[in-house]
Amino acid sequence: MKSKKVALINLGCPKNLVDAEEMLGRVAYSGSTICQYPEDAEVLIVNTCGFIDDSKKESIDTILKMAKLKDDARCKKLIVTGCLAQRYPDELQKEIPEIDHVVGLKDFDKITSLSGSGNKGEKSLSVQCNDDWRNRIRLTPRHYAYLRISDGCDNRCSYCAIPDIRGKFYSRTIGNIMEEARKMAGEGVKELNIISQDTTSYGIDLYRNKQLHVLLEKLSKIKDIEWIRLLYTHPGHFYPELINFIAKCEKVCKYIDLPVQHCNDTILEKMRRGVTHTQLRTLIDNLRNHIPGLFLRTSVIVGFPGETEEQFAELLEFIKAVKFERLGAFTYSQEDGTPASSFKKQLPEKVKEQRQKEIMLAQQEIIIKKHRGLIGKSIPVIVDEMSEKGIFIGRSYGDAPDVDSKVIIQKAHLKAGDIKNMLITGTEGYDLISTLIREG
Ligand code: SF4
Repeated sequence: MKSKKVALINLGCPKNLVDAEEMLGRVAYSGSTICQYPEDAEVLIVNTCGFIDDSKKESIDTILKMAKLKDDARCKKLIVTGCLAQRYPDELQKEIPEIDHVVGLKDFDKITSLSGSGNKGEKSLSVQCNDDWRNRIRLTPRHYAYLRISDGCDNRCSYCAIPDIRGKFYSRTIGNIMEEARKMAGEGVKELNIISQDTTSYGIDLYRNKQLHVLLEKLSKIKDIEWIRLLYTHPGHFYPELINFIAKCEKVCKYIDLPVQHCNDTILEKMRRGVTHTQLRTLIDNLRNHIPGLFLRTSVIVGFPGETEEQFAELLEFIKAVKFERLGAFTYSQEDGTPASSFKKQLPEKVKEQRQKEIMLAQQEIIIKKHRGLIGKSIPVIVDEMSEKGIFIGRSYGDAPDVDSKVIIQKAHLKAGDIKNMLITGTEGYDLISTLIREG
């Protein structure tokens, strides 16, 4: 039977991206042809995000846009999957009749059979979920990849729907992760971005205690891997061996993504974050003292139910005092089915937005000062792409792909994936300007 042309539109965070890459691998393996542009596809898959209101809106808008392509004779089937599909299957099917199938999260077998030539199961893989990486089609540039080490979450923060969407926390085995990481290195990956819902808890379910430091040590021995970056760590789950290993291993970027969400004790307790203001400050001081040159990234939620002016002021002061190198501020989103959605004193959107603005303004000043302080210093940078002749765009070790700042590299002969020391010569908005330091 003729192979179907399939396109996938991915939305959301790197965790969703890895799902999309594994899904595409399955679809291609089962005999379908993957095409780049939705307009060329007979089957369209939208991998949605349903984390907060803004991402839900983006997902719905994208589905509606793709639904319009069904007027064109080429597109015969619209499949919606991902977090939003997992959360609201009936509502989606009812509200958007153009959708042919709503498929739950990671139901790869169903996606494969629905998007294929109709020979259900003919070439489907009989593998465990842990092995979906084998045919994964990476959508990131050749030189970096996201490596998922665990999924699901047992933390049950009161505002978060993720545990209901992605289920209980489970870790992949070290052997399984290493196999994938070696394959990535063989394909040209130099930077591994470690992801999960709760990276710092890695191994607790499989090995009875946390094993992220053990995993990092093994990953750092892979010859061609030069940078390893930690995303989505939990401030309540750091432990001394991990901090020591990050400090001593040259390949582990001195960069930690540490979402604190708030600092006021009452709010932290209502959020069920399992940490106090004092514990957060102690951890941050500890990390900064042990790891020179550390770039700390965080995210905060403003306008949590009942957040008073004083509690918000405490958060603002905390941010000004800690001076995170990178920060994202989000307005609280009232998520169906979460405990916090039924808390009293939900705040008006206007108040939340005003507080978000104040945080971002304070952070802007911090970043500008920090970036000015880097002028004249040399800093390792990975080259991501050439933007025009002789001008390259890269990222410092303190910048994760997509979410952080960029480094503009002037007058150089480089290629994507090169990691070089650059002299920072200036700033441009949130970005840095640099030139290559000649070696030898
Ligand atoms: S740690 Fe909290 S915020 Fe993060 S995924 Fe788990 S429950 Fe959600």
